[in-house]
Amino acid sequence: MASGEVVSSWIVTFMTDIRGGNDDAMRYVLSGYWIGLVLGRLLLVRVTSYIGPKLALTIYGIIAIGLLAVIQSVDNVAVNAVATAVNREPYWYKIPVWKDVTEKEFLDYNWQVANTVQGKYKLAKYLYAVLPEHILYDEDAPETSRHVQTRDMFVQDVLGGISLAPMSIRITPHVMSVIDWTKPLSDPIRRQFIPLKSSFIEDHPRLQLDSLNETGSSPTPGLVHRYHDKALFLAVSVCPVYCRFCTRSYSVGGPTEEVSKKNIFPPTRRRWEPMFKYIEETPQLSDIVVSGGDGYYIPPEHLTSITERLLAIPHIRRIRIASKGLAVCPSRILTPGDEWTQAIIKASTAARKMGKSVALHTHFNHPAEMTWITRLATQKLYEEGVTVRNQTVMLRGVNDNVTTMKALIRMLADNNIMPYYVYQGDMVSGVEELRTPLSTILEIERHIRGSIAGFATPNFVIDLPGGGGKRLAVSYDTYDRSTGVSTYVLPGRNGGKDKVYEHHDPL
Ligand code: SF4
Repeated sequence: MASGEVVSSWIVTFMTDIRGGNDDAMRYVLSGYWIGLVLGRLLLVRVTSYIGPKLALTIYGIIAIGLLAVIQSVDNVAVNAVATAVNREPYWYKIPVWKDVTEKEFLDYNWQVANTVQGKYKLAKYLYAVLPEHILYDEDAPETSRHVQTRDMFVQDVLGGISLAPMSIRITPHVMSVIDWTKPLSDPIRRQFIPLKSSFIEDHPRLQLDSLNETGSSPTPGLVHRYHDKALFLAVSVCPVYCRFCTRSYSVGGPTEEVSKKNIFPPTRRRWEPMFKYIEETPQLSDIVVSGGDGYYIPPEHLTSITERLLAIPHIRRIRIASKGLAVCPSRILTPGDEWTQAIIKASTAARKMGKSVALHTHFNHPAEMTWITRLATQKLYEEGVTVRNQTVMLRGVNDNVTTMKALIRMLADNNIMPYYVYQGDMVSGVEELRTPLSTILEIERHIRGSIAGFATPNFVIDLPGGGGKRLAVSYDTYDRSTGVSTYVLPGRNGGKDKVYEHHDPL
């Protein structure tokens, strides 16, 4: 490093330390202040008597303005350094086919889309490229998968799992690159997106595809109105990735061998028109969640027209755009001129000016999903004033322990993403191996509540099967841990009478 670079990096570090309240840095500043005061005073008296008070005053003024400007510019460099002082590790290099991909290419959204892994054959090809020939024994893996010892066995297991899965395969390069391929059997990211037949568990008899009965609460197709003041606007049926545990596996993604996906939601203005009409004619609605599918795949011009149309409705005060994009393809936010990013920033700014709000609701489930690219993308949204909240799903083998959940929540809070909800995994068909008993979420909340600032502590909730809506997990009326059956009573739901909703733990 050249000596100039050493000095400037020292100054930047020093200013960063001061801004961060570093005690040593503050001591240096105070010592410098007192030494400077004594020497400066001696110099001042001598120079002033030599050149006269008027000239001296002018020179001192110019020096003071110059010093302030230097401090300000160094300070600005330090502020930017806080955002960019990251280890830009090319974490995609561990995928052999991407070892020559440059940072510029990986950060480009078009490259991410073009290299997204889709379908079982393309996935198998990547697995052969990325997996070691021999898979190490992994005691953290599900017991039924620990016998898998070779790459061939693993790939066959994946292909068998895909034939049983309700969701098709789509995985972004970012997600492929954060999986620990030396431990593919237990890796928490792999478990969310790539099924294994060996860990498949038969569905609980009470599981359903549309477990929340969303189709039963739709006044018009694509719009779910369950809560008094809130509606769900299903804008698209596609996503940048397909999560195995998706609540909307009845409609999201391409058809699979198990699920034909009849109720799809194409992003067309003609389909949206009756949904807008219902919202306009229902004054009790003040809050709209625009989801799908994933908001990342709403074309930018449509995102603008949806948010503009909703913001123009006087009784709509809050809009949330639901997207896992920040967690699974953060490069898009940093891609210069990306129109989707500009659309959400524009909508958020316009809403603020109207005294309303447009927020981004995202979906991180594990700390390993956040890389330096995610941090820069999150910082960009924060600087642009976009509110970002997170909704986590509790999943077995992914985040069902206190250490991981605590690390996830802290990571979100440290990056100015509000940890809004932790959900009990829904009773969705086809992913029983990922469900946890209610007791797990209760126990994790017991450890976490009080150990993290209240405003950064999420609500631990359950979305009641059959359309009961969200309730605090701890608010059950009964919970028999031996049978795994819990009940939640909702007053006045049944023609003025109480309605009881049941949740069933995995068998
Ligand atoms: S991104 Fe959301 S909607 Fe899409 S598959 Fe995952 S959970 Fe389902």
